[in-house]
Amino acid sequence: MSRVFNFAAGPAMMPEEALERAAAEMLSYKGTGMSVMEMSHRSSAYQEIFDRTVRLLRELMGIPDEYEVLLLQGGATGQFAAVPMNLLKTGADYVDSGNFAHGAFVEAQKYGNARVIASSREESYARVPDVDAGAIDPDADYVYITTNNTIYGTRFTRLPDCGKVPLVADMSSNILSEPYDVRDFGVIFAGAQKNIGPAGLTVVVVRKDLLGHARPDTPKIFDWAKQAQAGSMLNTPATYAIYMAGLCLEWLKKEGGVRVICMRNQVKAKLLYDFLDESRLFRGTAARESRSLMNVTFRTPSPETDAAFVKFAAAQGLVNLKGHRLVGGMRASIYNAMPVEGVTRLVEAMKQFEAEGIAR
Ligand SMILES: *Cc1c(COP(=O)(O)O)cnc(C)c1O
Repeated sequence: MSRVFNFAAGPAMMPEEALERAAAEMLSYKGTGMSVMEMSHRSSAYQEIFDRTVRLLRELMGIPDEYEVLLLQGGATGQFAAVPMNLLKTGADYVDSGNFAHGAFVEAQKYGNARVIASSREESYARVPDVDAGAIDPDADYVYITTNNTIYGTRFTRLPDCGKVPLVADMSSNILSEPYDVRDFGVIFAGAQKNIGPAGLTVVVVRKDLLGHARPDTPKIFDWAKQAQAGSMLNTPATYAIYMAGLCLEWLKKEGGVRVICMRNQVKAKLLYDFLDESRLFRGTAARESRSLMNVTFRTPSPETDAAFVKFAAAQGLVNLKGHRLVGGMRASIYNAMPVEGVTRLVEAMKQFEAEGIAR
């Protein structure tokens, strides 16, 4: 069996240990004689799996008791609608730092008065916009931010000062990659398929005082208060994805948790950015001060050379380096489960490609 280094933006690489454990437990989970996929979500064996995943999330993210943890479906995109449905009354302030942020803003406009208070759209999202605290309406229902912009390879290194206005964060592509103080947020949500586990699971962390304000026409599965009351089981949850996420979180805990993985993530990102800064062929596309630790975007002078490099790297088992269709070039997504070795191998491949290209 030979595994590749998968640089996909999501669904993305998962820890080998978690996959092996799932394989070992595939036909019969802990003597139950059935796969987790075949279990009733109402069984006590399954409830234990569910509770363990929530417990690990709470522990690894340091989620205080005054926050609810919901394990839902519908992806981050579902939450683009759920956020305004649950919170938007008079107005919401959106930070437009990328395509997903923009999509969330467009969705919110369907439900009420949403406005953009900072945007880098005119700069093709090559950096994150400055958020002037004075631009935030002190009476807004929430301020909305995307902490890491997956497509452009940018991230916020500082959170806006929102005063008493709750900060809502789409953390899909950098949750659990660096320490955050959950108390700085009213709501954090993330699709699981980048840094938590497989697709199909959406994590929502919401401060309890923000529950119970949903508009009356909110579908019940998107109503955070109703989901909280039902233990995220108003209907069948993504049972297997929740189990897999638990295995991945156990791995993260064993590795030392978020602080330790963050140091490793910084090492990985630095290896790539240092090379990009000195390369004569490749260059990074995100503004330096906004560089993401999770998605490193870069390009050569031509789309043909980009394509040639993607092919060259794939032949060495370094796959899915093609950039997002909106921006082209290359993107190396280096989430928690990407080993340092994958990144050193990528830098070696870039060096080799550059040297051979120059020789040609
Ligand atoms: C991937 C991604 C999304 C979309 O997630 P889905 O779960 O596919 O809906 C939204 N926001 C960010 C920041 C992402 O990286």
